[in-house]
Amino acid sequence: MGKKLLIDLISLRDLENLPADAVLKQDKYSSSFKTIRELATFQFTCRHCENAPCIQVCPAKALDKDENGLISRAVNLCIRCKSCITACPFGTMMDNLFIVKTSGQRFFSLANENDLEDFARFFPDQVVSIVDRDENPEENIYRLSDMILIKEKIWQ
Ligand code: SF4
Ligand code: SF4
Repeated sequence: MGKKLLIDLISLRDLENLPADAVLKQDKYSSSFKTIRELATFQFTCRHCENAPCIQVCPAKALDKDENGLISRAVNLCIRCKSCITACPFGTMMDNLFIVKTSGQRFFSLANENDLEDFARFFPDQVVSIVDRDENPEENIYRLSDMILIKEKIWQ
């Protein structure tokens, strides 16, 4: 099965100051430099509104839906005004979701086992852990990518 990161978005929200909002690099993600948290939030926490208020309110036209109906942010257009965070009726986006840490930010490779362990070490065990398992919706655990599982309560 192979090692994966299990990131618990439910517990993550309880952390006031994230110890590492680091970017995990994988081919699919490296061009966008979005955090795993942003990708997971739009895939699993977002309620995928039909006429999405977040898209409507964005003054920079940085938000759109991708081919799967998921909200996607163009990081080059986003001016981090937080209008979308305010407009979302469901509190989907945390206040610091789009903060980019530049100085000293470390990038971790999903292909490197040592990097995965280093990344997990930044967080309490209940938030990020290394597991050898697959997704199981009955436990609120879903697959984000080959290397990442996300725990989240999904709106039905
Ligand atoms: S922070 Fe502002 S510019 Fe960025 S996506 Fe949200 S509304 Fe658009
Ligand atoms: S308004 Fe909130 S819940 Fe609706 S699509 Fe945008 S981020 Fe998702």
